Amino acid sequence: MIPPIFRKIVQIFDSFPEIGPRQAWRLFFWLLKQDEKFKKNFLESFDALIKNLNFCKECNFPVINDDICQICSDPKRDKSILCIVARETDLITIENLKKFKGVYYIIGGFLLPYEEKEYVKNNLEKLKEKLEKDKKIKEVILALPFTKDAEPLRKEILRILNKFDLEIKTPKRGIPSGGEIEFMDPETLKDSLGL
Ligand SMILES: [Zn+2]
Repeated sequence: MIPPIFRKIVQIFDSFPEIGPRQAWRLFFWLLKQDEKFKKNFLESFDALIKNLNFCKECNFPVINDDICQICSDPKRDKSILCIVARETDLITIENLKKFKGVYYIIGGFLLPYEEKEYVKNNLEKLKEKLEKDKKIKEVILALPFTKDAEPLRKEILRILNKFDLEIKTPKRGIPSGGEIEFMDPETLKDSLGL
């Protein structure tokens, strides 16, 4: 009695991070009840987004109709300091402090058994190539959360970084065990990253 198209769309929602099957169904029924204008706007915006979507060739941040993001193309940013983050939201959190003057590199996830690892592995490989090629980079801030989930990724990144002659900085304090960068208060985060 449930039309296959319902299940198909719910399966898409179910594959979103942190969304379970029950929430996927709720989201689906909620979406159906929105007015036509909302649904049209949603579809058109999403369509425009995916048609023009690209990822910055330097840092992996999503860009529209371009191959380099605003931060990486800004001549005022210090290209000798590279801040490595696990996720796009961590970049936004650090950027909102308006203190960091270097550039970023986004890994795009963690090396977890239940997570899509291909994307992360590709970005780790690209990081290695970037460090081999880009001799301007002198200092790396490894701004990963101090969670158990981040540990395999931290080890892998350090293994790569140690092959190069770089000054490696890891947040000194304030990102407590189990702490996520995006939930930290700005002052503690600034302090922790030495900004
Ligand atoms: Zn970029």
